[in-house]
Amino acid sequence: MKGYKFIAGAVCPSCGDIDSIVLKNDDSIVKCISCNYFEKKDNNGEESIRIIND
Ligand SMILES: [Zn+2]
Repeated sequence: MKGYKFIAGAVCPSCGDIDSIVLKNDDSIVKCISCNYFEKKDNNGEESIRIIND
């Protein structure tokens, strides 16, 4: 997906898939490639994406 990068270990808050979350290169948009989850990150600092660290 051009212009996006995967977030390693990120869990989709909608479908629960791991490693399916991508972040736009300017950090403005987060979305899931497994479902229709989509989040704009421009106006609030609240993080709904959870990152799993082993
Ligand atoms: Zn998802």
